[in-house]
Amino acid sequence: MYQSSATQRGHLPVAPRGESPISVIGAGIAGAWQALLFAQAGRAVTLHERSDAAMTQSTSYWAGGMLAPYCEAEVSEPLIVRLGIRSLGLWREHFPQTPFNGSLVVAHARDRADFERFARLTTGHRRLDAQGVSEIEPSLEGRFREGLFYAGEGHVEPRQILPELHARITAAGGTIKFNSEPDAEDIDGIVIDCRGLAARDTQRELRGVKGEIILIETDEVELSRPVRLIHPRWPLYVIPRGGNRFMLGATSIESGDNGVSVRSALELLGAAYAVHPAFAEARIVEFGSGLRPAYPDNLPRIAVDNDKIAVNGLYRHGFLLAPALAELTLSYVARGVIDNEVMQCA
Ligand SMILES: Cc1cc2nc3c(=O)[nH]c(=O)nc-3n(C[C@H](O)[C@H](O)[C@H](O)COP(=O)(O)OP(=O)(O)OC[C@H]3O[C@@H](n4cnc5c(N)ncnc54)[C@H](O)[C@@H]3O)c2cc1C
Repeated sequence: MYQSSATQRGHLPVAPRGESPISVIGAGIAGAWQALLFAQAGRAVTLHERSDAAMTQSTSYWAGGMLAPYCEAEVSEPLIVRLGIRSLGLWREHFPQTPFNGSLVVAHARDRADFERFARLTTGHRRLDAQGVSEIEPSLEGRFREGLFYAGEGHVEPRQILPELHARITAAGGTIKFNSEPDAEDIDGIVIDCRGLAARDTQRELRGVKGEIILIETDEVELSRPVRLIHPRWPLYVIPRGGNRFMLGATSIESGDNGVSVRSALELLGAAYAVHPAFAEARIVEFGSGLRPAYPDNLPRIAVDNDKIAVNGLYRHGFLLAPALAELTLSYVARGVIDNEVMQCA
């Protein structure tokens, strides 16, 4: 079981409740992992989701699905790396078919200083020369003089893994209720609030950080792993999806609306073209965006108030952090373990 220097026992606002039923509200990536680990631990779990099984209203539907704790160290606190590395282990354990074939970071010559900065601020990589880049991604032959390869990272396809998680929850004995929007006050037992940005009604500090994406399709380029292009404004990336599709992402804009602007579309498409000119001939399949739920410090939080537990603020790391956060919540409910860095007790 996960332990760290920040983890300690003691001072519980409530005694762990051995048999209480667990209701999770919100079936995005945070709620799905909570429901899965509690159901697998033998608890009676009901997962409520206000939308239908397609989950198009959730932020998780729009995500890249990168499991990249080492790359994220460039812009994140050490807590993200710590929880992220633990989550990698849980993804491997529960979904051994997850592609763990790494991430590649590349830059054009004009962005060399930023590339070196990225290398300095991150660990877990090895430098590749031009030949090394083309050995792991043959489509990129001759495109980049060097790259950083993060061999330990993985990625999932959110639109596949969410239904898979939901099926696992049911297989483990849990119940999922779609089109269900209960009031937490009306529910007996322990309630785990994983409503993402919708929880702003009770958590005023939450804000949305818009991420725009474009899905394109071409058989002219093949990639095996996410490729991040160093860019002066945003970390832009291209993620291979099934069926010759590629997700281009993502902007990061302090905004509560979910439109896609012309400026963002130009930048995303420009980044794809900069990774490989053949992307210019690709077919545009979809534009879209999601609002990342974030607290002012951009760190995740598990807030405990008696039988009500809120798991939120997963910001740009929901897929990376959800398994570790679920493990922490389970440890708290089952054994009273508190992680001081993540948990707040009322
Ligand atoms: C463009 C983009 C790219 C991203 N890429 C990555 C990435 O590569 N890797 C990564 O780790 N993270 C990534 N993220 C971040 C990640 O998507 C979020 O951190 C994560 O989706 C947040 O998950 P959540 O479950 O908290 O919220 P959500 O996914 O929004 O789920 C909340 C759910 O609660 C439901 N709900 C709300 N209110 C109620 C109610 N009253 N009753 C019942 N249900 C309710 C909603 O319908 C929703 O389905 C990305 C985000 C964006 C926008």
